[in-house]
Amino acid sequence: MPFLVNTLRYGWLSALTLGLAAALYFQPVPIDIAILPRLALLLLGAALGLGIYFKASRLAFVACQLLAGYILLGQIPADGRSWLVAHGLALLALNTSIVMALRDRSVISFFGLLLAGVLVLEMLGLGYLYDCCAGIVTAARPLAVVLAGLPLGHIGDWLVSLGWADLGFLVAAILGLAVAAVRRDPVNLGLLSSVLLTGAVYVLGAGPRTLVILAACAGLLLALLALRSAYELAFRDDLTGIPSRRAYSRYLLTLGRSFSIAVVDIDHFKKLNDRYGHQVGDQALRMVAGKIARYGGGRAFRYGGEEFVLVFRGRNRERAERALEDMRKRIAGYPLRIRGANRPHNKSAGKRLRGRGGSQSIKTSVSVGLASASRDMRSPDEVLAAADKALYRAKRAGRNRVCTHK
Ligand code: GH3
Ligand code: MG
Ligand code: MG
Repeated sequence: MPFLVNTLRYGWLSALTLGLAAALYFQPVPIDIAILPRLALLLLGAALGLGIYFKASRLAFVACQLLAGYILLGQIPADGRSWLVAHGLALLALNTSIVMALRDRSVISFFGLLLAGVLVLEMLGLGYLYDCCAGIVTAARPLAVVLAGLPLGHIGDWLVSLGWADLGFLVAAILGLAVAAVRRDPVNLGLLSSVLLTGAVYVLGAGPRTLVILAACAGLLLALLALRSAYELAFRDDLTGIPSRRAYSRYLLTLGRSFSIAVVDIDHFKKLNDRYGHQVGDQALRMVAGKIARYGGGRAFRYGGEEFVLVFRGRNRERAERALEDMRKRIAGYPLRIRGANRPHNKSAGKRLRGRGGSQSIKTSVSVGLASASRDMRSPDEVLAAADKALYRAKRAGRNRVCTHK
């Protein structure tokens, strides 16, 4: 179930684009696609620019190669088209799935130049192959030698029948699926759907109409993904992955009159940092942020340092209190496993660590202050200040508890 929810959350942009591509191809209602060739150039160019600007190098590189591929394949005279288009598309799909496995870095760098160089070499190589030995490449069955004599039945027959372009798509799809399963981020899911879209265009015969649809839809997807990465950069906290303080300020603008705000602060966090080091501190922050976002009952944000806020819409304060109490218990009861490299910084800390099968665990807790909007307290800032006061009472009363502003 969480797998499905995550895939939907990260993959809705891809699903939307694949749906759009299908609608453009099958035309359930007539759609004029005369504008698509220009739109494709515009969108791929925009995706490239945004990718470079936001240092989303995976997106920039895929946009760059699709743009180059789209322009070059469009120049080819019709008689030579099918061979070059088929093998060119297979290369584009393979490149995309390899780029998925790389991490983002600055595009304008040695690495970016290297990728661009590889792309140029591939194109020149493809052109050379077409001139010298297109027939031999087409006739070749690369797996025939490898699989000869193996008892693989129908699958074996099918694998043996694959040409170089088919094999390129098969490898690209398998590699893309594997990488997306391991690193399931929105960009990789988007790039995987661009691989699948390229494969679909190949299967459908890669005519000029399908190519234009591919370029326009992939351009749209890449541009939207670049914008989405920029949004995440601005509104999501990098360490914990939950929305940041900036997102909190934005969210406040959407609140009505009835709402409650809870401030959550980790107890004795400075000591935890001092004893076990900042890496363990960060690990604890991530764990606590995850529990707050999952069980807090409201919309969770990292306010700063080891402080979080939760915003609850509506009047139901009892429900907020119940959720906060449940969240507090879950955090206090959670044994945080410390990974091997992070040894305690002093000897007394060693005694506090419980050994368990080679891994060690520590516990942490949070204090919570809750306040609700009322007639004399209307603005979110006032409510937050009152929640802060309640938090202060929770700390003074011994920590690891929820206090409400009366
Ligand atoms: P109290 O129970 O009263 O809240 O005590 P405390 O130690 O949690 O409170 P204090 O405000 O004195 O300490 C907060 C600490 O949080 C200080 C700072 O080093 C640490 N901190 C803030 N941001 C981060 C972060 O991103 N990572 C790590 N590891 N530590 C952080
Ligand atoms: Mg604090
Ligand atoms: Mg604290």
